[in-house]
Amino acid sequence: MNKVIVVGAGMAGLTAAIRASDNAEVDLISLDYSERSQSVMAMGGINAALNTKGQDDSTEQHYADTMHGGCEINDAEAVLRLTADALKIVEWLSEIGTSFTRDENGNIDLRYFGGQKKQRTAYAGARTGKQIVTALIGQCRKREVEGKVTRHVGWRFVSLIFTDKRECAGVVCVNEDSGEIKSFTGDAVIIATGGLNSLFGKTVGSTQNDGYATARLLTQGVQLANLEMIQYHPTTVRTPNKRMLITEAARGEGGKLYVLRDGEKWYFMKEWYPELAELMPRDVVSKSIYKASNGGEKEVYLDITHLDEDTIRVKLDEVYDICTKYLNLNPIEEPIPIFPGVHYFMGGIRTDADHRTNIKGLYAAGECSSQYHGANRLGGNSLLGAIHGGWIAAENAILEKPTGELIREEVNIPTQNDGRLAEIMNRSMSIYRDEENLTDALNELNGMEESPLIILAKACIMSAIERKESRGAHQRTDYPQSSSEFEKASNVTYDGEINVFFE
Ligand SMILES: Cc1cc2nc3c(=O)[nH]c(=O)nc-3n(C[C@H](O)[C@H](O)[C@H](O)COP(=O)(O)OP(=O)(O)OC[C@H]3O[C@@H](n4cnc5c(N)ncnc54)[C@H](O)[C@@H]3O)c2cc1C
Repeated sequence: MNKVIVVGAGMAGLTAAIRASDNAEVDLISLDYSERSQSVMAMGGINAALNTKGQDDSTEQHYADTMHGGCEINDAEAVLRLTADALKIVEWLSEIGTSFTRDENGNIDLRYFGGQKKQRTAYAGARTGKQIVTALIGQCRKREVEGKVTRHVGWRFVSLIFTDKRECAGVVCVNEDSGEIKSFTGDAVIIATGGLNSLFGKTVGSTQNDGYATARLLTQGVQLANLEMIQYHPTTVRTPNKRMLITEAARGEGGKLYVLRDGEKWYFMKEWYPELAELMPRDVVSKSIYKASNGGEKEVYLDITHLDEDTIRVKLDEVYDICTKYLNLNPIEEPIPIFPGVHYFMGGIRTDADHRTNIKGLYAAGECSSQYHGANRLGGNSLLGAIHGGWIAAENAILEKPTGELIREEVNIPTQNDGRLAEIMNRSMSIYRDEENLTDALNELNGMEESPLIILAKACIMSAIERKESRGAHQRTDYPQSSSEFEKASNVTYDGEINVFFE
C-alpha cells in the first residue's frame, strides 16, 4: 500500500489525512494537536452557494465573486473547482457532525460576508472553526484506531527528502521535546503548515505557523507565488498578548464603522461605498479605515450596539467574549475600538489546480498554498480552500510512486526569528508600501545572517518591489493604479539567488 506523509494537522492536513487514508497509509505530522491549530480560531464561517435564502445564488456567482475579490490573479481553474465543490464539502462536513447553525426551516443558515453579493457563508455560531475541526478529528481518530493514520504530534518539519530523480519522498523532522531528528519516508508528501505568521511577529494567527516550512521549501527548490499579497483584517483589537480578531460576521450582521468628525459619528463606509458599505472586500475596508483615521491618528470604532442583544450573545458570542474578557468593554452598550492587523497570507507555495507543486510527489494545501485567493481572499473562502485543498491533494498524492533512489542531504535545524525581522516586515509591508521603504528593508535584511526565514522575507519584499502597481492587498503609493501588465501571479524561485517573475 502507498504511504502519504502529511505535515500539518489543521483543517487542510486533517482532511488530506482522512481522504488519503481510504487508499494509503498516512503519517500525520504536526507541531501541536489539531485542537490547537489556527483552524480552530475561525469564527465567521465557510462559503458555499447553498442558496437556502432563495437569493438565486449559484456556484457561478461564487466563482465570479472570488475572482473579482482576488483582482483576477487567482488560478481560474482552481477557483472553478473550489466553488463547484463547495456544496459537496459543506454537505460532507454536516454529515460528519459539524453542527451548522440552521434557520427556522431547518436549512443551514447563511450570512453575508465581505465581497459577496449573496448570503453564502455557513456558520456554527461564532465557533465555526472549532466545530469543523472537532468533526474532522472524529473522522481522523476512527482511521487512527483502524491503523490507517498514524499521528506524530510535537514534530517540527525541517526539510524535504528527495530521490536521485528529484522526486519528493519524505520529510525530516525534529522532536520539539527531545531534539530527536527523524526521517519519515513515503510515496508522496502533502504540506499543510498554514500561514507565515511569525514573519510579522504578533498577528491574529497562530504562532505555531512560523513560516519556516515554506521558507525551507523555497531554499529546496519549491516555487512560491504572490508573497506580497498579505491580507490585513480590517477589525482587530489589541489585547495584552497579541492582536485578536473581531469577526467579519459582526459587519455581516449589521455592524457599522465610524470615526468622530467634528464631534459627530461619520459612517465613512456608507458614504464612500453606498451599495455594500461595511461589506466591501477586506482590502477596501482596511484601506478605508486607514484613510478615515488619518493613518491611525484617530480612533476607529466598530459599532454593534444597535443590534439586538440576542444576535450579539448568540450569533456573535465570541465577539462578546473577546470584548468583555480582554477589553473590559460591553459591546452591547459600547462601540469597539479597532484597527487593521495582519491576518492572512494569500501567497505561498505555488500549486496547480490538482495541488501539485513544481516538485514531483510534493503537494501543498491550506493557507500555505497560493492558488485560490489571488490578491485578496474573501472571508469564508479559506476554510473552504483548506478543506478542498486537502481533499484534492490527497486524491492525487495516493497515486504517486517515486522511481528513484533516496538521497540523504545534510540537515540544518531551524533558526528562530529574533523580533527584528518582524519589525522590518511590519514597517515595510504594511497596508501602503513604496519603493524607498521596501528597498531600505531589503538592504537591512541583506545585512542580517542568512537563514531560510530571512530568504523568505526577502522574497516577499522583492515580490512587493517588482509588482509596480496597486492591486488588492498590495497598495503602492508610488504606483497607485493597477496595470494590465501585472494581471498575473508573481512567482519566486531560489537557486542561491532569489528570482521573481510574473506568469
Ligand atoms: C482569528 C481567525 C479567524 C478566522 N476566521 C475565518 C473564517 O471565519 N472563515 C475562513 O474561511 N477563514 C478564517 N480564518 C482563516 C483560517 O482559519 C485559516 O486560513 C485556515 O484555518 C488554515 O487552515 P490550515 O489547515 O491551512 O492551517 P492551520 O489550521 O493553521 O494548521 C497548520 C498546521 O501546521 C502545523 N505546523 C505549522 N508549522 C509546522 C512545522 N514547521 N512543522 C510541523 N507542523 C507545523 C501546525 O501545528 C498546524 O497543525 C481565520 C483565521 C484567524 C486567525
